[in-house]
Amino acid sequence: MNTILKHNFSAGPSILPPEVLDGARKAVGDWLDQGLSILEVSHRTPEFRAVVDEAEELIRELMEIPSGYSILFIQGGASTQFSMIPFNFMGRTGKAAYLDAGFFSKRAIAEASHFGLVDVVASSADSNYTSIPSDYSIDPSCSYFHCTSNNTIEGSQMKSFPSSPIPLMCDMSSDILSRTIDVQQFDLIYAGAQKNMGPAGVTVVIAKDELLDNCSSKVPAMWDYRVFRDFHSLYNTPPVFSLYVMLLNLRWIKQQGGVKEMERRNNVKAEILYRELDSNPMFHPTIVREHRSMMNVRFSIDDPEMASLFYEIATREGMVGIKAPFGDGFRVSLYNALPLSSVEALVNTMRESHDAIKCSSF
Ligand SMILES: *Cc1c(COP(=O)(O)O)cnc(C)c1O
Repeated sequence: MNTILKHNFSAGPSILPPEVLDGARKAVGDWLDQGLSILEVSHRTPEFRAVVDEAEELIRELMEIPSGYSILFIQGGASTQFSMIPFNFMGRTGKAAYLDAGFFSKRAIAEASHFGLVDVVASSADSNYTSIPSDYSIDPSCSYFHCTSNNTIEGSQMKSFPSSPIPLMCDMSSDILSRTIDVQQFDLIYAGAQKNMGPAGVTVVIAKDELLDNCSSKVPAMWDYRVFRDFHSLYNTPPVFSLYVMLLNLRWIKQQGGVKEMERRNNVKAEILYRELDSNPMFHPTIVREHRSMMNVRFSIDDPEMASLFYEIATREGMVGIKAPFGDGFRVSLYNALPLSSVEALVNTMRESHDAIKCSSF
């Protein structure tokens, strides 16, 4: 078993359970004891077909997805979905509604604008995305409404979803499988695997069949959801290894007690961390309380010298991936696989840094 060398707070690709890494290592050597590595097996073999089938079944079971939804495995990351969605669905009315709550929703909006008119229903850009707009209405003459459940860069999270008069599409890249959601509220959910599902290389799409039946017909095969559905995600060569490691991670989630148990653990981790952020005067959480993410936590330290001291101590303690992606400040990610002990170590480091600075200022 792999011993943990680092406290991995990376936002993506991110931490995977040691059991999953062990399984991946084994499969690279000799997969299913058949004298072949998973890296050299055809995706057309019954053994690999079984991987795709089981991954699909487990997602269906873990997320309680009812019949009438298809589960597709696509490449190109969540970023490809930014164009795949409008390519397939915007044509119906020529316009689509988007909620702008952060970096990735802005990217989704930019891509959609290549395909038609984008109606931005609300934006929190003016307040630096420190909250998620909640007061808006969705124009029923748009083809669909798009939102981002968790803003990975900013550290904000939608706690509930609007009832939409038009198909609801959601980018759940950074909080899928971290909390229970009602899939039936959505027409299409997508997530790049590398945040909370597995390694980079595969994107999961959960889509209502009724929606897919009404796709635009003039879409190239690799952008056509129906091709992925008709070929059971095996129209072309899928990301074989990524899919396999994702399957190992799905099995791990189930074995640990499923999404409910993940949610319980994630709540505990986030609560401990936010409690420290709220009580330690050295740190300032960035996001308004009611929209704070349970997955990605942003905070700042006013004094740059204090900030570098904190960073130094944290690095010495083996913490990685804690710097904010843009600008100053910090972001730590608390995905499913991050153990409580890593959060406790971080909180201890925060207290240590605060004490060290208090002492040195006297
Ligand atoms: C990471 C991320 C993306 C981009 O994903 P890629 O797989 O790198 O294309 C999009 N949306 C959200 C919410 C993300 O966290």
